Amino acid sequence: MNTKLPVLRHTVELRHAVQQWRRQGQKIALVPTMGGLHDGHLSLVRLAKQHANRVIVSVFVNPTQFAPHEDFDAYPRNEERDWHKLGTVEADAMYAPDVHEIYPRDFATRVDVAGVAQPLEGISRPHFFSGVATVVTKLFLQALPDVAVFGEKDYQQLLVVKKLVRDLNFPVTIVPGPIMREPDGLAMSSRNVYLDAQDRVTAPHLYGVLQDMAGDLAAGREMDETVKKGLARLEKHGFRVDYLEVRDAENLTPAVYPLWKPVRLLAAAYLGKVRLIDNMAVPSPGAH
Ligand code: AMP
Repeated sequence: MNTKLPVLRHTVELRHAVQQWRRQGQKIALVPTMGGLHDGHLSLVRLAKQHANRVIVSVFVNPTQFAPHEDFDAYPRNEERDWHKLGTVEADAMYAPDVHEIYPRDFATRVDVAGVAQPLEGISRPHFFSGVATVVTKLFLQALPDVAVFGEKDYQQLLVVKKLVRDLNFPVTIVPGPIMREPDGLAMSSRNVYLDAQDRVTAPHLYGVLQDMAGDLAAGREMDETVKKGLARLEKHGFRVDYLEVRDAENLTPAVYPLWKPVRLLAAAYLGKVRLIDNMAVPSPGAH
């Protein structure tokens, strides 16, 4: 356990640490998070350690990716708990800047990714990816990492970041991390703490439905029919479905049946006021 995990608050400290490590010939990974750390985040740190000698974890609840009606103020924050958790996986630094370190009062720039940022989350949360792309740009330029790790839990976000990196020539390799789930299948998320006891029991059905849909599609079942059945099942369990779709796994354009390219199932659904997202690869037909 790293009981001396340094907490960096300022870009200059971050740059200094990175410069020193780089001078020693070390490779640096960044794992961006908004805190409220769980085992999903920690799996990304472990993965980052396989790709770099030093791992920096940023903990920053990014205001620009929240709409005014969203949960920015209520978002789970517990820096000390996060710090302890990062010690257990031997991260090398925690970067926890103040909001003004990222967004000085006269901050006036936004980074927008078109295409892959537009459907799905882009429709339901119109400012979200612009906020994500802006903060990721800032974090990359502040930390100057060789590698950055992002979870497939936020699959569209992962594709948006990959596009951002390609389009703007960031010299950063993006490494995707698999989705970590609770034993009952619910994808781990900082927001799961918002679920009440009854909704917590219902929530894993989202995973179950995606799993069955992926199986059906892999077995060659017709796509629209599969989606309709999945939707009906979710609604029966009490979900209010925002979207449930089969999309091209590379660019998120609508999948075309019969499926011949890799596709991904993506879903967002409410249980009460809690919005859950999840996604799953569809094994290629015949592989099932
Ligand atoms: P967040 O703190 O929710 O912004 O997430 C920070 C990073 O952790 C993002 O790259 C997420 O995709 C990733 N992440 C969140 N939940 C999980 C999970 N259950 N499994 C793997 N990665 C995750």
